[in-house]
Amino acid sequence: MLTRANASVQQQNLSHIISENLGQILDRGRVMAIAAEGWFNGNPAETLGHLSSMAAADRIFLRIALYDQTSRRVYTSSPAQDSPEFTTAVWALLSTSAQEGTNHLRLAPLSPSSEHAWQIPLLIPVNGNHNTPRGVLLVVLDLGYFLQLYRHIDMGRSGVIQVLTADAMVVAEARPEGLVLQNGARRAGVSLPPGVHAGALQGDLFQDGRTYLSSFRQPESRPFTVVVSRDMQEILTAHSAIRSRLFAGLAVLTAFFAAVTFWVARGIQRQGGLVEALARSNEKNQLLIDQLEEEKRRAVMLAAHDHLTGLPNRRMFNELLASHLLQAKRNRRHYALMYLDLDRFKSVNDTLGHHVGDLLLQAVSARLRAGLRESDLVARLGGDEFAVLVTGLERMDDIAAVAGKLVEQLSLPYEGLDGHAIQTSPSIGVAVFPRDGQDIGALSRHADAAMYQSKRSGRGRYTFYDAVRKPADARFLEQRLPKAIAEHELVLHFQPKVRLCDYQLVGFEALVRWQHPEFGLIYPNDFIPLAESTGAIVELGNWVAQACCQQLASWQAEGLKVVPIAFNVSAMQLLDEELPLRVAGMLATHGVAAGSLEVEITETCLVESMDVAVKVLDALEKLGVHIALDDFGSGFSSLGYVRTLPIHCIKIDRSFINDIRNSPDDAVIVTSIITLAHNLKMRVVAEGVERLDQLIHLKTAGCDEVQGYFFSRPVPADAAREFLLQPAMSPA
Ligand code: C2E
Ligand code: MG
Ligand code: MG
Repeated sequence: MLTRANASVQQQNLSHIISENLGQILDRGRVMAIAAEGWFNGNPAETLGHLSSMAAADRIFLRIALYDQTSRRVYTSSPAQDSPEFTTAVWALLSTSAQEGTNHLRLAPLSPSSEHAWQIPLLIPVNGNHNTPRGVLLVVLDLGYFLQLYRHIDMGRSGVIQVLTADAMVVAEARPEGLVLQNGARRAGVSLPPGVHAGALQGDLFQDGRTYLSSFRQPESRPFTVVVSRDMQEILTAHSAIRSRLFAGLAVLTAFFAAVTFWVARGIQRQGGLVEALARSNEKNQLLIDQLEEEKRRAVMLAAHDHLTGLPNRRMFNELLASHLLQAKRNRRHYALMYLDLDRFKSVNDTLGHHVGDLLLQAVSARLRAGLRESDLVARLGGDEFAVLVTGLERMDDIAAVAGKLVEQLSLPYEGLDGHAIQTSPSIGVAVFPRDGQDIGALSRHADAAMYQSKRSGRGRYTFYDAVRKPADARFLEQRLPKAIAEHELVLHFQPKVRLCDYQLVGFEALVRWQHPEFGLIYPNDFIPLAESTGAIVELGNWVAQACCQQLASWQAEGLKVVPIAFNVSAMQLLDEELPLRVAGMLATHGVAAGSLEVEITETCLVESMDVAVKVLDALEKLGVHIALDDFGSGFSSLGYVRTLPIHCIKIDRSFINDIRNSPDDAVIVTSIITLAHNLKMRVVAEGVERLDQLIHLKTAGCDEVQGYFFSRPVPADAAREFLLQPAMSPA
């Protein structure tokens, strides 16, 4: 009963949100109709400019056209023919608006052909003073595109979202497998009780022998109803954890629609009353977002366990970990945090299906539980990542013994997973309390770093954090760093960026490495933070910029056609007002065009002294240097400021790309970032693309460029030169 009630509330919220988002689009149509009045007030050219920029601001508007009082078409954004039924509808609207003085929009007769299935024509009266009708604006919406934006919301296997007309005909329908094509004649949708604007129904609503729970909502004076349905059987077996993911995704989408609506409204601020109406609609949205946030918080509170394995989830684990660490501080025994990742788990999922992947995760968690003592903690952090806290051991050696046992036990074959036998192994990273960290943050970071070291060293093993740190002892490196710059121990490696429409090499990112005479190649994560804390980063950054210019000049001198090189700058460099001048000097010295350089900044660069940073960025932009926002998404809440900065490109953080196919949240966030960036006329680069499935997903989502191991790891200059010689990169 409780599950049903929960599902019903959840679906009602979803239908509410979708209908609000749809309502915002209709509001934008109304805004256009108000702007269209200018046509009849003697400003046709200016009006056309407004209308076409408003329509172009959002892909959802496929076509607009304007009709005068005699229903003559005076403007159309594309040369489509109007059917006779259509002209009659324009007439009818003109005469009713004349009689009733309304400004209600209407649905025009829908095209019966499947080619236009998701194109929804709306007619909106264009009124003069005192609501006297002057004409009609036609806005054709692409509801298919609209529903596509929700395709990653997790609604289980049976979820259906329908948009119905007032007479309950389906105009667009999305199911988990995709959008449903309307073949010829329109179908009747779920039949709803007459005269009710919102509610829930239960029954064999799709006449397929299954019982569905449906929630519907028809906002007042809007010609659509949104219906969200799901199979009761599935609802009863599903778990409430889905909710937190659902609402996180929806909050992002709602914020996105609110942002676009606000943006369109800004363009026509001269319409005072209208701006007020939109401000009200934005307020409503804020309430909606708050409501979603609250829902999300509640869902997160409720869901302390991972539904698949029954193990505590990350949140619960962190809470338990905190109380164990308190205990650990009071005794002399050893505690160790282990992070554990299954090797090649993704390929199990990809080749044998998620069902087998799920069975494997369950089997792994059972072995983990069986291999540890009652007092130890085990959790699933997400995907194929597990965490273990080994508690109260007598000797340090015992920790290695436990880690070794786990590697051994988890590497034994897994039989009978839906008829499959699977062999995998864990990569384990171990951080010991208090040696490697005294709080959750430090221990987790270090266990994670050690886990990556295990992966790098060949998987199926454990690594202590202590061993990761040894070759790059922080204090030693810190002292040596200024000398390293002077003695030319730094080198740049270059990683290609590839354009998705034609797979051409379109740029490199320069990544610095320290070629240490004793320790070999040291990666930036091991010395950039040190350089930042000692201030050496400014000198290091100058070296990097200069080395990029030198490299470009040397390739140019060979007669090669160069592509832009991007280099990373730290927060401290952005506070250096001399930076643009220095970059200009380097460009001139080496004879390199400013357009061949790009700087990558991160969101954290902008947190301190935003004013100075913006000044430096503006000056760089004036020079002609492009600016990219790196690792975008890690601080997702701050979308707003992007618009105000001179940013040409957004690089989506690789944490979103990693599991894009299996994580509906990440997919929604990535789609939203791409749409938003394109609306703001920015290029989008996805980072950390390692697999073909990620590439295909990103291409479908409209991403412009990708960077990652799939095409190439960062390579030394001579290998990068080979890419310049053959700039077409094949995805095959
Ligand atoms: P970043 O700017 O986000 O650079 C991308 C990092 O992701 C690079 O690591 C790159 O090797 C790695 N990467 C690229 N493709 C993939 C992939 O498909 N999978 C995975 N797992 N990783 C991939 P790297 O070279 O270790 O650099 C780490 C970070 O160090 C950079 O992150 C950047 O923030 C910083 N950094 C590097 N060079 C410089 C520099 O010259 N100046 C400053 N200030 N920071 C730098
Ligand atoms: Mg970067
Ligand atoms: Mg990055």
